[in-house]
Amino acid sequence: MTDLRELYQEVILDHSKHPKNFHKMEDATHTAEGYNPLCGDHFFLYLKIENGLIKDISFEGSGCAISKASASIMTSIVKGKTLEEAEKIFENFHSFVTGKADKNFDPNSLGKLAVFSGVSEFPVRVKCATLAWHTLINALEKKSEIATTE
Ligand code: ZN
Repeated sequence: MTDLRELYQEVILDHSKHPKNFHKMEDATHTAEGYNPLCGDHFFLYLKIENGLIKDISFEGSGCAISKASASIMTSIVKGKTLEEAEKIFENFHSFVTGKADKNFDPNSLGKLAVFSGVSEFPVRVKCATLAWHTLINALEKKSEIATTE
């Protein structure tokens, strides 16, 4: 397991140093702001949604390595997905990192999100790992309040 942990750590650090889709989007159809007061993670999310499909997604802001890597990986995963698919991935990811997943659940089905398997042992880190997703759901539901992890 140690090797896997190290590999996961490397992936997280790499995404936090070189985040994907890390820029502002001028013609976004949906936006939301997310803030995790416990850690200080603070991001803005931009989406371009057409006919129920996430055509484009980007984010900007700052936060710890886990929150930034999670936002980076999330954007690369949900781009091109339907809203329903994105919500389903979040449900699976959320129960996975909060340790509530079914015992038959296969983490490999989460693809790149499996790198956050270690955070389920650290409740404070779960908030960092899920912040971008809570923000995404708020953006999809066009909620105007800031998404927090509380
Ligand atoms: Zn954080």
